[in-house]
Amino acid sequence: MLTGQVMRTRTIAGLLIACGACGQGALAEVAVTPPAGRLPQAVVPTHYTLELTIDPRQERFAGRTRIDVDVRESVQKIWLHGLGLEITAVYVSVGGAKIPAAFTVSEPVTGVARLDRLEFALANTPRMIEDLEHYFGIAFPYQKLDLISSPQMAGAMENAGALLYDDNLMLLEANHTPTQRRNYGETHAHELAHQWFGDLVTPQWWDDIWLNEA
Ligand SMILES: [Zn+2]
Repeated sequence: MLTGQVMRTRTIAGLLIACGACGQGALAEVAVTPPAGRLPQAVVPTHYTLELTIDPRQERFAGRTRIDVDVRESVQKIWLHGLGLEITAVYVSVGGAKIPAAFTVSEPVTGVARLDRLEFALANTPRMIEDLEHYFGIAFPYQKLDLISSPQMAGAMENAGALLYDDNLMLLEANHTPTQRRNYGETHAHELAHQWFGDLVTPQWWDDIWLNEA
């Protein structure tokens, strides 16, 4: 771990639109054009509450997510990022009152920003994995490896199979500087090594964490 903070992935694979105070029929009249890139600033998340029951022996986990939002101006719809959501009900809660709402899920859009800046990492990561497999004598221990970049992450975090990075560490421009490349290399190699040393095996308690981080 290299200092962790709140995460926000850049993945925009599906979008949900909720329409406050209108029925299912009325929704069709609302223009459904997903925004590309950043979501509109009229509705801004203020707090996320996650209640998850996680059993490491299970492939999947379940729980509840609550997102409090600040609605800064009158809106007809609220956009959310989402992926693979199974939606059973939608309503708007205002001052304890439940207002009926409708929703639809849009097709993926071209809103994924700066994906080309992952090219350097995507080109170099396989070689780094191969080197670490050779060094440890153990194949990469997980079924997949996601590189997740976030504008709100400070540093990086070695989640098993889902590495999380500050945008500045992972997304390099084509004309990146040697310093940026060095920061990327040092951090990425560190977090990749954690997949074996820290994730696959880990200290019994925090007072041995120097072994893990050294
Ligand atoms: Zn570390």
